[in-house]
Amino acid sequence: MDSKRLRIAMQKSGRLSQDSQELLKSCGFKINLREDRLIAHVENMPIDILRVRDDDIPGLVMDKVVDLGIVGENVLEETMLERQSQGLATAFKKLKDLDYGGCRLSLAIPREQEWTGVAALQGKKIATTYPHLLKRFLAEQGVTFKPVLLTGSVEVAPRAGLADAICDLVSSGATLEANGLKEVQVIYRSKATLIQADTELYPEKQKLVDRLLPRLEGMLQARESKYIMLHAPKDKLAEITALLPGAENPTVMPLASDTTHVAMHVVATETLFWETMEKLKALGASSILVLPIEKMMM
Ligand code: ATP
Ligand code: MG
Repeated sequence: MDSKRLRIAMQKSGRLSQDSQELLKSCGFKINLREDRLIAHVENMPIDILRVRDDDIPGLVMDKVVDLGIVGENVLEETMLERQSQGLATAFKKLKDLDYGGCRLSLAIPREQEWTGVAALQGKKIATTYPHLLKRFLAEQGVTFKPVLLTGSVEVAPRAGLADAICDLVSSGATLEANGLKEVQVIYRSKATLIQADTELYPEKQKLVDRLLPRLEGMLQARESKYIMLHAPKDKLAEITALLPGAENPTVMPLASDTTHVAMHVVATETLFWETMEKLKALGASSILVLPIEKMMM
């Protein structure tokens, strides 16, 4: 592999793949991802995308085999604890928290059982893919347990008689529900994150990272921002501005044939809820438009 090309590891196929690909594409990457390829070349930049299992990504970054990686914080933190216990390198730099891959690592028990608190798990068998995160959490509560290590189908463990409880990732809770389990305690909240190897990059690579980061930040910021346009009575400008999220400095322009009203344009840090739009209207605002923003650079 050409050492001058920036190497980014991301999940080959799974819950983070689609969003990660779209994010990189929106940052201007032209990627031709062929299903069977381990490495994909970015056509218009000196970047290689390494497509691996998500479990391998933190290690690749910590071993400095790749320069950047996109991975869930749950996997990152678990790998860190595991490598610490093995005396392996665990250093990395966090570049940016991303806005997808949200989930929580939770304890769940059979639905019909009464939950009296984590103390009741003392000495119990708990099936999980995340033994280190679970151990850290329960140790803080003074609870010891017997880990049953499973890398898949964790939710069937209690029914199969393999464990008394499970500790698994949850987003909607539908999988737990379908397996007769109930979520009783969140132990870790996670999102996808972009990390970098803890080493000095070649200047060419560093320049590329320095260019990519503002694009990424711009994309993430654009996704959570809205462009808001409205007509406002001149005497209500302050009250109207106060209702717009994160808009200290609206652009105010005269209207062609109405001297009592002005046009206001603002970039708001979040969307406008119907309730806020109704309040704006009650203050005399009209023609209220909320538009998505595709890209931004501040
Ligand atoms: P791989 O084959 O890459 O090892 P996997 O089966 O371990 O894949 P996925 O199920 O694709 O992993 O999940 C990848 C990551 O997506 C998780 O580690 C977590 O950070 C995030 N995620 C978001 N929502 C959920 C969810 N409901 N269940 C599991 N993971 C979720
Ligand atoms: Mg995995």
